[in-house]
Amino acid sequence: MPKLNEHYQNLKESYLFSEIAHRVAAYSQAHPDQKIIRLGIGDVTLPLTSMAIDGLHEGVDAMASSETFKGYGPEQGYEFLRDAIAGYYERNGVPMDAADIFISDGAKSDTGNISELFSADNVILIPDPVYPVYVDSNIMSGKQVTYLSGNAENQFLPMPDHRVHADIIYLCSPNNPTGAVYNREQLKEWVDYALKEHAVILFDSAYEAFITDPALPRSIYAIEGAKKCAIEFGSLSKTAGFTGTRCGYTVVPRELVFPTSDGRELSLHAMWNRRQSTKFNGTSYIIQKGAAAVFTEEGMAQCMEHIHYYQENARMISETLSRKGIRFFGGIHSPYIWFECPDGMESWEFFDYLLNKAQIVGTPGAGFGENGKNYFRLTSFGEHGKA
Ligand code: PLP
Repeated sequence: MPKLNEHYQNLKESYLFSEIAHRVAAYSQAHPDQKIIRLGIGDVTLPLTSMAIDGLHEGVDAMASSETFKGYGPEQGYEFLRDAIAGYYERNGVPMDAADIFISDGAKSDTGNISELFSADNVILIPDPVYPVYVDSNIMSGKQVTYLSGNAENQFLPMPDHRVHADIIYLCSPNNPTGAVYNREQLKEWVDYALKEHAVILFDSAYEAFITDPALPRSIYAIEGAKKCAIEFGSLSKTAGFTGTRCGYTVVPRELVFPTSDGRELSLHAMWNRRQSTKFNGTSYIIQKGAAAVFTEEGMAQCMEHIHYYQENARMISETLSRKGIRFFGGIHSPYIWFECPDGMESWEFFDYLLNKAQIVGTPGAGFGENGKNYFRLTSFGEHGKA
């Protein structure tokens, strides 16, 4: 009889989006004439840009002839894409070596898989509220996590407690679900803390393209010393509309070398390379061709037009909340708008209230951690004027 990984029993039920869909379907059935405004969706709605489509077509055409056909590719990704991503970093003022970049099928896999590189006896800090994959992937392998409390008082930007040691620190900026963004001084404090504690920061920059203020860091590597203490996860999902096309990347600097228990040294870059080469056979060549087109200057300019479209939605939502005197977080450097439910309501209760009273669908904050249970997330991924 197999002995099962019983740590799976410690996971909370993942019913957030299915429960939303279920409640919305029930409401629509009971009120077929009501138009519903969907602001709960965490998925893009605009199609791919023309440059991305041209890149994908080129990839498809290459598969049609024996001179250009591609079979298995490098597990780390094709050089042309790693170079294109390094070029994107450089244009944003961050020096980057393409050899440190690993291409993947998205940030979900990589943020979920990275915990394999770390043993169970680490002090692991994870913000609350945050993207639930960090917590669940650690629980699946029986690891204990410590929550970093994000709350209105700290603007949902928890900072290090210098009296407490940590080994692994997850950060997500701009944050899902709160839309909060760390500034340079705050990220520097995290980097300095990680260097002092010999800890590793796992930095999720999936929403970096939404940052409009050039003074705000879009990468942890904009902070001096970060290559010695941080891994960064990037995604084309929200930057380029690749949620269905699937492509992401992870930067594991070769400077990340730590001592083993028997006094030798292990490189996280070498370990991740070994892990990926063993369990992953690379992202499709066709997708990588599309992704490389995204990271050209013209390709990114097209993506930014789409992001501006979503930012216009965020502006409309934010202005409405401001007019109503409702305090909110996010909405400027992020597709997400986050606010406290009125009258002490819990987030699922407010979900029903908003759906029934205003036909608006949002996402209950309870889906992102204990600190979200009285909060609500709206997203800007809808279409202007479309209910
Ligand atoms: N990281 C964060 C913070 C996210 O919100 C998401 C998706 O919602 C992801 C990663 C997953 O990105 P991908 O589509 O690249 O797997």
